[in-house]
Amino acid sequence: MKDTFKHQGMRQQLVEVLVNKGIKDHRVLKAIGKIPRHLFMDSGFIDHAYQDKAFPIAADQTISQPYTVAFQSELLRVSPDDKVLEIGTGSGYQTAVLLELGAKVYSIERQKELYKKTSNFLPKIGYRAKQLIFGDGYKGLPEEAPFQSIIVTAGAPYVPNPLLSQLAIGGRLVIPVGENVQVMTLFIRKGPKEFEKHEFGDFRFVPMLEDKN
Ligand code: SAH
Repeated sequence: MKDTFKHQGMRQQLVEVLVNKGIKDHRVLKAIGKIPRHLFMDSGFIDHAYQDKAFPIAADQTISQPYTVAFQSELLRVSPDDKVLEIGTGSGYQTAVLLELGAKVYSIERQKELYKKTSNFLPKIGYRAKQLIFGDGYKGLPEEAPFQSIIVTAGAPYVPNPLLSQLAIGGRLVIPVGENVQVMTLFIRKGPKEFEKHEFGDFRFVPMLEDKN
């Protein structure tokens, strides 16, 4: 598990690509410039780790495209010490970005194989989430609510109500909504029953699945 000057150089080029695509948040860019993305991927794909592309990980899932990770992270506006819930731990890369932003991260994964692999891997490279959970993201994590931010990293056919109700007032939910193509959607909780909704164009994610395991 090496991080070489070559990797670091490729990462800085990736950061420039993201800047050119419109990512502005310096803390997000700094996190992406720091995290060794090649270590989150299976060895066959290491040469591709710093291209702005999604790639296969275990259990037929993907590590999201860096631009997508940056875009969602920017929308979340995480402040240090914020309690953040992530749905879809996957490789743990987005989790690492949230940890670099100083968040207290709770992350749920519904594929046991990925949950185990990532729970084992993240601490090895120094990333400690508050809790990694094997479970169903549609339910959120009521026992730890409210959250300042919630991020969904799989395509949701609809917006699960538990996620809206587990947001703090002023909190932000970033969720890609749709079946084949997803519209990146931001909900800001303005009051107990008041939500503001903003949409940010099309993205493609693996589906957020129900009834598994
Ligand atoms: N954030 C991840 C993206 C992984 S892809 C990364 O950076 O690598 C989306 C992940 O969501 C997959 O790992 C998939 O297994 C998981 N997922 C799908 N449906 C889910 C659900 N209902 N609850 C929790 N996780 C889910």
